[in-house]
Amino acid sequence: GVRDGLGAYINKPETYTPDVVAYYDEDFVAIHDMFPKSSLHLLLLPRDQTKTRLHPFDAFEDAEFLANVKAETQKLRTLAAGELRRKYGKDSAQEQTRQAALSADPPPDELPQGRDWEQEIVVGVHAVPSMNHLHVHVLSVDRYSERLKHRKHYNSFSTPFFVPIDDFPLAPDDERRRPTEAGYLKRDFACWRCGKGFGNRFAELKQHLEQEFRDWKKL
Ligand code: 5GP
Ligand code: ZN
Repeated sequence: GVRDGLGAYINKPETYTPDVVAYYDEDFVAIHDMFPKSSLHLLLLPRDQTKTRLHPFDAFEDAEFLANVKAETQKLRTLAAGELRRKYGKDSAQEQTRQAALSADPPPDELPQGRDWEQEIVVGVHAVPSMNHLHVHVLSVDRYSERLKHRKHYNSFSTPFFVPIDDFPLAPDDERRRPTEAGYLKRDFACWRCGKGFGNRFAELKQHLEQEFRDWKKL
């Protein structure tokens, strides 16, 4: 069924072009999300056959496995940050300051730091995944995408429904273990960047996200 759609990437990663499969090795396949919910949206798929059918909360109970996944997501975070720098770096205020310093005559001894794009990436899983194969989302914080079409798309990445990889292992009584009771997906919208509330007005939220995206890129 459609919920098994991620299996093909784990089984035959070598049959895809680099715009679909970013990289793979024996243990992991990194792919581009086919319906990206941010301007950059990757998925990390562990290939371990004993884990790939498990809910992430169960898979990550294995401390050694969790450590391997965390290490791999750090690699992917760095790769994604490089991608953001290539896409948006030239627009950013910090990059322009850096370039100006570089071209000064004589250039200063210490160059201003460039923007830390790794901070603009979030990594985690959904409390209730829709796809069966174990996957970790690695996406830019902007949540700006044509494919972000439904209320639940926004809230699934903007409430505790999204569980950051660094929050694992979860405590036994963590409320995110009972996501339906908590009703995260039905919450009122709040902007990821400025916190402004939008009730359930999705169109208004989308318009605001576009503005925030423009400012965020140039920061
Ligand atoms: P979930 O809600 O299960 O955590 O997220 C599953 C993700 O997989 C979604 O972001 C969705 O856009 C993505 N997705 C669903 N089907 C496919 C597919 O066939 N190929 C790729 N590359 N991504 C997919
Ligand atoms: Zn805002």
